[in-house]
Amino acid sequence: MKVYSRRVVLCVVAVSMLLLLSEISFAQQQPLRSITYRLSMPRPVSHLFEVSIEIELPPGLENQAFEFQMPRWSPGRYAVFDFAKNVQEFSAAAGICPAGSFCDMAMRPVTRIDDQTWSVAPLGSSSLTITYKVFANDLSGTFSQLDSRHANYNGGCIFMYVVGHKPDSVKLTINPPPGWKIVNGRIERPGQKEWLFANWDIMIDTPTEIAPDWSKDDFQVDGKRYHVVVHSMGDEGGKRANLVRDIEKIVRAETALWGSPEFEEYTFLIHFAADDHSGDGMEHLTSTQIIEPGALADQGVYDDTLGTVAHEFFHVWNVKRLRPLELGPWDFTRPANTRGLWVAEGITNYYGHLMLRRAGLWDDARFLRRESFTIASIENAPGSRLMSAEESSLSAPFLDGARHAQKTNLANTSISYYPKGELIGMVLDLLLRGRTSGKASLDDVMRQMYDEFYLKSPSASYYLRGKGYRTEDFQRVASQVAGFGVDDFFKLHVRGVETLPYDEAFGYVGLRLARTRSPDPFTGISLDFEVQRTATIDNVRNDSPAEDAGLQQGDEIIELAGKPLARDNWSSTLGRYKPGDSVPITVKRDRRTIRTNLVLGQPARFEYKIEERPDATAEQKALRVAWLKGS
Ligand SMILES: [Zn+2]
Ligand SMILES: [Zn+2]
Repeated sequence: MKVYSRRVVLCVVAVSMLLLLSEISFAQQQPLRSITYRLSMPRPVSHLFEVSIEIELPPGLENQAFEFQMPRWSPGRYAVFDFAKNVQEFSAAAGICPAGSFCDMAMRPVTRIDDQTWSVAPLGSSSLTITYKVFANDLSGTFSQLDSRHANYNGGCIFMYVVGHKPDSVKLTINPPPGWKIVNGRIERPGQKEWLFANWDIMIDTPTEIAPDWSKDDFQVDGKRYHVVVHSMGDEGGKRANLVRDIEKIVRAETALWGSPEFEEYTFLIHFAADDHSGDGMEHLTSTQIIEPGALADQGVYDDTLGTVAHEFFHVWNVKRLRPLELGPWDFTRPANTRGLWVAEGITNYYGHLMLRRAGLWDDARFLRRESFTIASIENAPGSRLMSAEESSLSAPFLDGARHAQKTNLANTSISYYPKGELIGMVLDLLLRGRTSGKASLDDVMRQMYDEFYLKSPSASYYLRGKGYRTEDFQRVASQVAGFGVDDFFKLHVRGVETLPYDEAFGYVGLRLARTRSPDPFTGISLDFEVQRTATIDNVRNDSPAEDAGLQQGDEIIELAGKPLARDNWSSTLGRYKPGDSVPITVKRDRRTIRTNLVLGQPARFEYKIEERPDATAEQKALRVAWLKGS
């Protein structure tokens, strides 16, 4: 760090303030005369989308360079993916050719100025046409896919924005292959191929499916229209009608909590990919993309889909409209850093499960089993004593779907804000209900937040109604609704890593958390379940018997106690030994065979079960009914 004289610092501040003001006034006062995106897909088997961006410049800007930028990441998934890596054949021409005609346009110089940005000089032209192609062959809520079956895109990895002009309104025209139909969450008329969006951010919030053979089922709740669009790559087993009926039950349960949603229409875009690897769910303002790796007919896929629907639809309010300060509009040159993902995602996880109960799709026992499972996943994780819910939120770029070229210790040092936020939400809900004898709940906190920050706040940006909240705001509103301070709770359990007060929370509703030590001796080894046959070590706990034995991630265990080992007989072989036993173990690492001894530790894993208290009172049972059924 350098030390500057006070005078110099003041000058620097003054100059940067001026620059900032001039940039802001430029962005707000000088929108381009028009920005039009055209998307075509003339050769689906190539996986190449073709994009053109036509811009008309205001007078006087014909000699200023314009920058076109591909986002590093896109909203809802916080890992950095650098979408620019799939851009090819970027070029620029002077003028705009009328749609459907051919024009011989003069080219304009293009300078690649960094990994995500292309700069174009109009050289006196009052309009420009930019063209490029994007390779896309991933079916997901973040990436896009074009192949012989369909085009499914998420705009963040397809459409560059014009730097400084994200707030401008944009037009989009899609030119589909013959016989392919377009559907998204902003269809206003049958056969629609053109859209006008208030800004670029709204355009990329509109994932779109283009294919010859998707199906659409509709229902209405409280005058709002819902569409269930399904593209099945496998057998549906006759389950689609029931699926639509159960999605309607979820919509009814969630709108009962929040009140009527702001939109008139909402679209569930669902893929049954039948490829055994594509799976995702992504929230948007008037739609959601849901991708299941199986076929609808497969065992378990139906239930998984409903679980994702319950989660994603809750995001209509929590995260899409009621949002942390940093989540919209976004800076796509760097990862999003927010402390609030434990609210945005974790509390959504909690309600996703609770809403399945309130919709009548789960019974009490199934909901409590699911929460017991979440408690076990957090309480047995070494990272839960090292990383708080807020730190986990800030670490999202490393945790949320990130792929690491460098080896990490994250399995030992991190927790996910999804399950941690889910448990914070549940325990806070029960403390509010219990300490106020049922007068307040987390439902009230969420509604109050939505009212204050979305419905009643003046718009803080071009992007969307309302303004973002800070986690301190959530803390304040929770205290107001509760009628008692929750500052200590936040200090210990949101910013700190103290174990949540499960006993107090469950006690209010006549339940308790039973904790039993699992009999298995402790090794510190987790196996890689992505690897089908061999017993390959995915993670070694710090300060564990495995670490003492010198084992490490990536080692392939070939023998335990002299017997050949595969993934399937790891547990049964280990089960023959007890804590303190020294078991010979042989692993393959690179080209070496390593023999060592694993000295088994005392059992360290606990099982958790939320169960009925024998002394539960009528009042406690009534509070439980209000919690699980909603009131
Ligand atoms: Zn599709
Ligand atoms: Zn989510």
